[in-house]
Amino acid sequence: MKSAPFEHHEPETVAEAVSLLEALDEPTILAGGQSLVPMLRFRLANPDAVIDLNRIDELDYLEEADGMLRIGALARHVDIEESALIADRYGSFADAAPLVADPQIRNRGTIAGSVAQADPKGDWASVLLAHDGEVVARGPDGERVIPADEFFLLPYDTTLDENEMITELRVPTPLDREGSAYHKLKRKTGDYAMAGSAVRIVLDEEGTIETAGIGLTAVDITNVRATDAEESLVGERPSKEAFKQAGELAAEQSHPESDEHGDASYKERMVNVLTQRALADAAERAGLVVKRVTA
Ligand SMILES: Cc1cc2nc3c(=O)[nH]c(=O)nc-3n(C[C@H](O)[C@H](O)[C@H](O)COP(=O)(O)OP(=O)(O)OC[C@H]3O[C@@H](n4cnc5c(N)ncnc54)[C@H](O)[C@@H]3O)c2cc1C
Repeated sequence: MKSAPFEHHEPETVAEAVSLLEALDEPTILAGGQSLVPMLRFRLANPDAVIDLNRIDELDYLEEADGMLRIGALARHVDIEESALIADRYGSFADAAPLVADPQIRNRGTIAGSVAQADPKGDWASVLLAHDGEVVARGPDGERVIPADEFFLLPYDTTLDENEMITELRVPTPLDREGSAYHKLKRKTGDYAMAGSAVRIVLDEEGTIETAGIGLTAVDITNVRATDAEESLVGERPSKEAFKQAGELAAEQSHPESDEHGDASYKERMVNVLTQRALADAAERAGLVVKRVTA
């Protein structure tokens, strides 16, 4: 099936894109096209106009500035995958990138597009949640910064206004004694997650956990934080026992659905195991070694 006809606009600046968003009747934004183009082809999306961001060079960046890792709206999955900065300092991002879809999709798809798509099976939203990330949006009234915690409403629905676009995603740069990781279960290369867990921990000078963030993939109606598990970790020293308890609490807080790939109780068990493994990797990256769970 081919898409219904639509106008194709190619703005060269964010200001131009925002003006088009306001002026056009029911426009849709195109970034990497890896989710939108299939929806157009199957006529699940039938916009009158498409605003293609790909000529907006000012959105194409991945950098640390002013205490934040800043990911421009045209940064692609592959940019994260190949970045020395990410490999060196952002364990969860480095883990997640090669697990997203397949190389063809990673070459074109953007991190911001994935977050805007708000598919609860998407990987980046969990990473953003674990890191207390923010979504920077631009609309006719200027810029708005939305905490990731307040961004995801329902599957494919966010708090972004219709006339706003994402310009940047950002997370705080790592502190001393910080580690993060992402673990994902999928049936085969190229598949979305059956379950995934992104974690970030920060230790104090004595080696006690002072901050913990855990974001879960594909086990609720949106990507969600495992807040009970996070709270259980704060004040604890990283240990197999503390991570076991956090894994169990994360599983209890998840609400996966049974499907052809596994029943809900299996996915809950996987949340438990993936969270424990991610915590062990994060602790190691923060400077401690805690034995990994094997089952
Ligand atoms: C076969 C397949 C497997 C996949 N597997 C995975 C996976 O394992 N993990 C995973 O996380 N993802 C997966 N994806 C999704 C992939 O990561 C997409 O790249 C991503 O969901 C969308 O990014 P995009 O840049 O291609 O966005 P597009 O397809 O261009 O846009 C997606 C949506 O976001 C909106 N949008 C895009 N950019 C902006 C912006 N800057 N501001 C506001 N709205 C915007 C668009 O209007 C559209 O509604 C898969 C996709 C496919 C087709």
